[in-house]
Amino acid sequence: MPIYNRIAELHEDMQTWRRDIHQHPELCFEEVRTAQIVAEKLRSWGIEVTEGIGVTGLVGTLKGQGDSKRTIGIRADMDALPMQELTNLPYQSVHEGKMHACGHDGHTAILLGAAKYLSETRNFDGTVHFIFQPAEEGGGGGDAMVKDGLFDRFPCDGVYGLHNMPDQPKGTFHIKSGTLMASADIATITIHGKGGHAAHPQRSIDPLMVGVQLHTALQTIVSRNVSPIDNVVVSITEFHAGTAQNVIAHDAKLTASIRTTSEEMRDMVERRFKEICKGHADSFGVKIDVEYHRNYPCTVNHEKETEILARAARAVAGEDAVNTNAPVRMGSEDFSFMLNACPGAYIFLGAADDTHKFAVHHPEYDFNDDILGLGASLWVKLVEQELPRT
Ligand SMILES: [Zn+2]
Ligand SMILES: [Zn+2]
Repeated sequence: MPIYNRIAELHEDMQTWRRDIHQHPELCFEEVRTAQIVAEKLRSWGIEVTEGIGVTGLVGTLKGQGDSKRTIGIRADMDALPMQELTNLPYQSVHEGKMHACGHDGHTAILLGAAKYLSETRNFDGTVHFIFQPAEEGGGGGDAMVKDGLFDRFPCDGVYGLHNMPDQPKGTFHIKSGTLMASADIATITIHGKGGHAAHPQRSIDPLMVGVQLHTALQTIVSRNVSPIDNVVVSITEFHAGTAQNVIAHDAKLTASIRTTSEEMRDMVERRFKEICKGHADSFGVKIDVEYHRNYPCTVNHEKETEILARAARAVAGEDAVNTNAPVRMGSEDFSFMLNACPGAYIFLGAADDTHKFAVHHPEYDFNDDILGLGASLWVKLVEQELPRT
């Protein structure tokens, strides 16, 4: 892998930072220690730091040499997940029930490595904004930063992000123009039935029976309303009802995770979801409340910026290591909010090897430190390529 020599030298540092962050994971909007470490390091390298954007988010700003007004934003996420780590690594999480199981520790270390390199060399003409965001794992930290004026205060000609991908070979890049990841919405259904004695069902309206029918009917959205060529997921993930074997429950509650790959599809699925719930309420004579929360939009790469990022990836990893027709993933990403507010692109960096096989969000997952240098090289190459000195 052609990694800049100086970045190869930074490997030990990046690994140390990464493992320290790994050992001290912090959840959505609680990334106080992580943000402080990031801010201190950036400042020590002469980078101007603005803290408290989107609660615990921060931006480091570095000007290159020359007077170009061009700007670039590079984003890393900093948060961990509320789950128990089972790796038994020497730098395993010291916080019970919290774990860096998505590799955001690695993304942060990669961006720090690139920031250190660029602060030393400043072999570019323009401005780089290093964006460290909180709360990617469901909390919408990217949205919080945008709403806090991220791109008004730090205008970017393009904004870029990456995610490690343990199901792709180490050192390969995967990107595509257009939709790269799905939207992720959450629906909570409450069926208000009429409880009673199990021996006298005629006096009750059984919400559990309504819920079972509703569960089946909601599966028809994907099978009957969506083109077989399109990608939609409707997963009912929770179903709670009842407290005793001889009591018909009074209420039932279902939760659903809904994913689509276009805004049109997203609108259609929400409409059908609500129609089916209403139809069941009418036909069974119950009240059904639906709380439908639009969480993360689709992650849609902009065409020009996708090519810019792919070019940088090819420069550091070689032609054959960059797939520019990556399949859409049904996971989601709140970098989507930044891409909806600013042109940009998002790329996956493969991380699989013999010792790193667990998927993200698995309790035995660990970020593969071997890709730190390649990730940092990608960001450095992107900056030097897009903000060239004349
Ligand atoms: Zn994740
Ligand atoms: Zn992640």
